[in-house]
Amino acid sequence: MRASRYLIATLKETPADAEIISHQLMLRAGMIRKLAAGLYTWLPLGLRVLRKVERIVREEMDRSGAQEVLMPAVQPAELWQESGRWQQYGGELLRMNDRHGRDFCFGPTHEEVITDMVRNELKSYKDLPANFYQIQTKFRDERRPRFGVMRAREFIMKDAYSFNLDQASLDETYQVMHRTYCSIFDRLGLDYRAVEADSGAIGGSSSHEFHVLAASGEDEIAFSTGGQYAANIEKAEAVAPAGERPAPAETMAEVDTPDQHTIANLARFLNIDASHTIKTLIVKGAADEDGNQGLVALILRGDHELNEIKAENLPDVAEPLTFASEEEIKASAGCGIGSIGPVGLSIPLIVDRSAAHMADFVCGANKDDVHLTGVNWERDVPLGRVEDIRNIVEGDPSPAGDGHLEIKRGIEVGHIFKLGNKYSQAMNATVLDENGKSAILEMGCYGIGVSRIVAAAIEQNHDDRGIIWPMAIAPFEVAVVTLNAHKSPTVMEAAEKLYDQLRQAGLDVLLDDRNERPGVKFADMELIGIPHRVVISDRGLQAGTLEYKGRSDADRQDIPTADALPFIL
Ligand code: ATP
Ligand code: MG
Ligand code: MG
Ligand code: MG
Repeated sequence: MRASRYLIATLKETPADAEIISHQLMLRAGMIRKLAAGLYTWLPLGLRVLRKVERIVREEMDRSGAQEVLMPAVQPAELWQESGRWQQYGGELLRMNDRHGRDFCFGPTHEEVITDMVRNELKSYKDLPANFYQIQTKFRDERRPRFGVMRAREFIMKDAYSFNLDQASLDETYQVMHRTYCSIFDRLGLDYRAVEADSGAIGGSSSHEFHVLAASGEDEIAFSTGGQYAANIEKAEAVAPAGERPAPAETMAEVDTPDQHTIANLARFLNIDASHTIKTLIVKGAADEDGNQGLVALILRGDHELNEIKAENLPDVAEPLTFASEEEIKASAGCGIGSIGPVGLSIPLIVDRSAAHMADFVCGANKDDVHLTGVNWERDVPLGRVEDIRNIVEGDPSPAGDGHLEIKRGIEVGHIFKLGNKYSQAMNATVLDENGKSAILEMGCYGIGVSRIVAAAIEQNHDDRGIIWPMAIAPFEVAVVTLNAHKSPTVMEAAEKLYDQLRQAGLDVLLDDRNERPGVKFADMELIGIPHRVVISDRGLQAGTLEYKGRSDADRQDIPTADALPFIL
């Protein structure tokens, strides 16, 4: 590719509304542009990276024996009514009507569509096991789209769905997918961890998330120094033995709820600083088997003062949040606030408690009389830093008994899940077994955030000059930069020759033949993050050398022109 004929849309200034480094660098390097909240155009340079990620995912999925399909992004409501999710799915589901007034949604995920395909196409146990995948556009109307393509509304996901005759066969496919994911993230050159995830009502160790380690990650993961244990924080908290760590005495004194961890979380949170103004409490982590739609109740009890209680109903609340009035609360056991609403919603709560001290709290999550654990609290501090309050901390003993726990932030880039027969039962997806009897299929689902991976890779690989791509997903592997080529035919000739040689050797090469100052070209190539840079100048050619610099090398070096090819390869 010739840079003079290619859209190099680099920006000097850091865009003001980009909070994290990957978002800033993707904009500055000219990889993406925002169309509207959570909607992005991939410019040519960014698309090259996305396609490379896709290719690795596709190759490894094919190698695992999965079969690629492509399902519609728009899905008829009837299928979602069959599974029951038309009612259950919250505000993330973008619903729409066609010209005849029929209901549709833009798929946030494809369990219903694939189950429909499979019930029509697979008839016998001989057709099993089967695993179908696609790489496709999803839409989720995220409450808070942010960080560019990291949490977008429209994004690219690889989603796979396996169908097995029995649990044992599902276990096998699940293991194959676990290994396949490791191969994918190994090949991508990322530092990642596979962690146990809370699988909600289904229970067991039937869900794993794959996290790319990065300080900006929205999730937290805990792993043991001995390497035997790794779980996301919700899961780790759910298994942490209750009462292990004494919480601040005055807050734990009269606790009478089954969910001690949660109380410790909230109490600790509110005790951080008595003069702190809480702007927003975000309820997260308690969920039903769909990963959404649980109910959460929060009640603060005690004799503290609340100067202001403010609640706003959010537009995507399926069931409106109900807050007790201040008078009602004060008239009851103490002073507090109660709320009920679907999990994952932000409950805006402003508490100015300058003079208050906290007593005890009761909070938890309940759905159909089932107490859900793992409710957690996030503090949304005006400074823009979100700090989780948790009941396990770094240094706690590992539940597996192998040393102590480390806690790190991660970006969820993949998630594998045993679904069992939830969808196959509801949608009657069966095959005939060996005895000619109808058997309900066992299902698994396996997601990878293809577009999120691009951002996650940058979070892990950058410096103050720009992106440092892992070789496997670099938009170009080598930049051949000409100096003063418009004045020097020899430079252009040498550059063209090297450009051809490198391409013939199978490398992706960007020939920076632009008529720009050397400083501008170097800065652009570093910002874009191309792993190898070769500079061709008159001075070098006279000395029979080229100048080489690896993207993360400290220094440039001169190499004999004839050695350029073997040096880079
Ligand atoms: P998150 O916890 O980040 O909201 P999720 O658990 O809702 O993700 P899954 O349903 O497990 O997501 O989807 C599979 C993968 O799709 C995720 O692991 C993630 O990498 C990716 N993904 C999910 N939501 C988004 C989004 N809004 N933007 C980009 N990628 C996403
Ligand atoms: Mg989500
Ligand atoms: Mg998640
Ligand atoms: Mg997930």
